Amino acid sequence: NYTLGPKIFDWDVQRRRWLAENRGFPSQTPAGKSRILLVTGSPPNPCDNPIGDHYLLKGTKNKIDYCRLHGIEIVYNMAHLDRELAGYWAKLPLIRRLMLSHPEVEWIWWMDSDALFTDMAFEIPLDHYAAHNLVVHGYPDLIFEKHSWIGLNTGSFLLRNCQWSLDLLDAWAPMGPKGPIRDEAGKMLTANLKGRPAFEADDQSALIYLLLSQQDRWGDKIYIENSYYLHGYWAGLVDRYEEMMEKYHPGLGDERWPFVTHFVGCKPCGSYGDYPVERCLRSMERAFNFADNQVLRMYGFEHGNLASPKIRRTEKQTAKPLEFLDQLNLEARVETRG
Ligand code: UDP
Ligand code: MN
Repeated sequence: NYTLGPKIFDWDVQRRRWLAENRGFPSQTPAGKSRILLVTGSPPNPCDNPIGDHYLLKGTKNKIDYCRLHGIEIVYNMAHLDRELAGYWAKLPLIRRLMLSHPEVEWIWWMDSDALFTDMAFEIPLDHYAAHNLVVHGYPDLIFEKHSWIGLNTGSFLLRNCQWSLDLLDAWAPMGPKGPIRDEAGKMLTANLKGRPAFEADDQSALIYLLLSQQDRWGDKIYIENSYYLHGYWAGLVDRYEEMMEKYHPGLGDERWPFVTHFVGCKPCGSYGDYPVERCLRSMERAFNFADNQVLRMYGFEHGNLASPKIRRTEKQTAKPLEFLDQLNLEARVETRG
């Protein structure tokens, strides 16, 4: 019988005691915000397709930029902490391990390697989630009425560091072990979730199934978010960036200026995917440059064309650089625009 580790029953008590004894590591930042740890990663070995490693690097740079601008710590994992939970399941033992090793962190934010921040100014409205422990992008009607396997997306979600979350991980993991367990569970998930192709059990389907089969146990602490793109499906977004730049501005986070663009179904690193690799790479390049413009403009540069890594100067060089700092600052810009 598979488990993620020794059963923990009193994490909230253990963690509260630790925080009381370690006042130098508070669970809030000096600005009074709950401490967030962004967690991402990729497989331990090189990509089958070497260009995939280039886009993993761009995905990493993109996350470093966002986290630097917003005071968020970042962990990049390349190890398989649990051989049985390799692949997309690897996030579960990793998140559990990080929760236990970082009691000072209030929220673990998992983000897939193939998801990019495309709104560098938007911030997660944490105060909306005071009564919740899991925040995931999705649509309640797709989950609870249609039983759709894409009713929510586990490419970008927040999990509070608490006993409830450890219990959720324990309930979520049993379909994960590679081999017959994962294969059999995959058949069960395909039989029960609408639109799901036949393949081994994945963490997203398993979470939806858990939510459907044990709604009473988990439902009231799960916030299904769709007022902004905590996860945004790339195919409907990447061709509209120019239109967005013409009409809108960073900080909105929704379909006008998506917070996250996630390349679901693209596998530039691996060997199989649902879309032609060329289209995926072209689209990733566009998403990266769209986001990178929001960073480069703070320093007086931009990509003139989203298809190209080339940049040009947007500001005249000056011997009094500090006079223009406020204008260039991303946060200040967003604030003045409301
Ligand atoms: N991943 C990992 N180690 C692995 C395999 C996957 O950390 O060995 C992570 C990686 O960040 C990846 C995520 O798991 O983005 C989920 O997989 P993928 O994005 O390919 O799934 P999709 O979003 O396309 O369903
Ligand atoms: Mn993904």
